[in-house]
Amino acid sequence: MKKFSGKGVYGAIAIGSVSVFKRQEASVRRTHIDDTAAELERVENAKALATEQLSAVYEKALKEVGETHAQIFEIHMMMLEDDDYNDSIRNIIETQSVNAEYAVAVTSDNFAEMFASMDDAYMQARSADVKDISNRLIACLSGAADSEDGSDEKMIVCADDLAPSETVSLDKDRVLAFVTAFGSSNSHTAILARNMNIPAVISVGEGFISEIKDGDRLIVDGHTGTVILDPDEKTIAEYTEKQQEDARKKALLQELKGKENITKDGTSVKIYANIGGVDGIGTVLANDAGGIGLFRSEFLYLESEDYPTEEQQFTAYRKVLESMAGKKVIIRTLDIGADKQIDYFKLDKEDNPALGFRAVRICLTRPEIFRTQLRALYRASAFGELGIMFPMITSVSEVEQCLEMCEQVKRELTDEDIPFSDKVELGIMIETPAAAVISDRLAPLVDFFSVGTNDLTQYTLACDRQNAKLERFVDTHHEAVLRLIEMSAKNAHEKGAWIGICGELAADTELTETFLRMGIDELSVSAPFVLPVREKVRSLDLSAEQK
Ligand code: PEP
Ligand code: MG
Repeated sequence: MKKFSGKGVYGAIAIGSVSVFKRQEASVRRTHIDDTAAELERVENAKALATEQLSAVYEKALKEVGETHAQIFEIHMMMLEDDDYNDSIRNIIETQSVNAEYAVAVTSDNFAEMFASMDDAYMQARSADVKDISNRLIACLSGAADSEDGSDEKMIVCADDLAPSETVSLDKDRVLAFVTAFGSSNSHTAILARNMNIPAVISVGEGFISEIKDGDRLIVDGHTGTVILDPDEKTIAEYTEKQQEDARKKALLQELKGKENITKDGTSVKIYANIGGVDGIGTVLANDAGGIGLFRSEFLYLESEDYPTEEQQFTAYRKVLESMAGKKVIIRTLDIGADKQIDYFKLDKEDNPALGFRAVRICLTRPEIFRTQLRALYRASAFGELGIMFPMITSVSEVEQCLEMCEQVKRELTDEDIPFSDKVELGIMIETPAAAVISDRLAPLVDFFSVGTNDLTQYTLACDRQNAKLERFVDTHHEAVLRLIEMSAKNAHEKGAWIGICGELAADTELTETFLRMGIDELSVSAPFVLPVREKVRSLDLSAEQK
């Protein structure tokens, strides 16, 4: 039995088996081979295995996400048979007497680069596909297990760290918990774990990964950040008891469903939920959220192989609005860049990505992407109560450009006789100190503010939210951040806008009273936190002195 300590990012307990996360990008070494014929045979066998895996994935995707999204795996199977691709692998093995893995990796790089340099957007997107099938082929060559192993057992996914794109690609029905060696609590991976309602511990330290292997037994305690490898019977019994205690507490919270979010002295606040995709709606409804305060629309792009079309986006937004049946749904326009990288966007590498080309900066620079999203959003607005908000705002001019783009899209839809709601609320995220400081100038332009405390904290305290080493320097209750929120609330109200908080701090019940006293109108939290925050709100009495 061995204990590791890290930081719990979602308080729940899991007891189960380890699945070490296998990174798609296998690192490949070049080795000299004498028997090139045998090497070519290895390629043929690996191809057969890869095709078998792909057809299983295709069948699964067909059932779960439908024909359109499943098609990509058919394309992958066809690409594996492509003559040029196969000739290149054979040629490299034969002429250089090298191992198959190396020949596949070089072919992959060459083809990916060739596709990326083409003018046609469809062909450019094939670059990611070539990398994908090549990684699969390399994994088959090196005997790495495919994640689609047909077993239904839920596993504890352990990794050095996970990028948001890797987290979304995990089969959520099979993840019992997350443990990462690195990572920070405000990273998008931690946020996803919270949204997924599963125990998660991050930052357990470098040694962890080398100590574990697939199938090892593990206890993950997301309350205390403790991870126990190979627990003995007594420890398992102790944690099973704690798990049952959690379940009892959860059941008690269920009694708060249907109750109002109102303090003892009658102050009410809206409690909404944050989601990353259409599949989050079930948890939102199950937790009785009053609406969706933040739909991180970039996950639609992250899950996609290419720019999602207007039609695909419209279908997703409409589904969310219809499922929420008249409750408010605030969809944030694309917020990629920084830690959320998408190959097909072909963003340049940046020295300081958090201070770089991201979010609204991309949308205003590449208006065709922005316009497609806004058209889909306005079209979907006819099916519910939509709010649209723009991330990473720092200036009046950015807001004006966003609003002008909305006007342009509305004019287009009117000309095309496409219906949309005239009640769409427009808002901005307050997640840069600049936006908070000029909130008096921004408030008259919009209907609402939503404070993104994750980024507001990183930019105010100059602490990269991705950097685990800085955790001890990040005071999440820092007075500077709280003052900026208070200032924004005051300015919003003076200029007739309402204000919510959608960053992780909204779920911090130690601050609920402070936020309500500032006059915050809405708190939007990961769905599992809706009822705990409601419980807190109902216990408060704002007519008494704050302790
Ligand atoms: C935030 O910055 O607080 C926020 C809600 O946005 P994200 O975490 O997606 O950057
Ligand atoms: Mg943000």
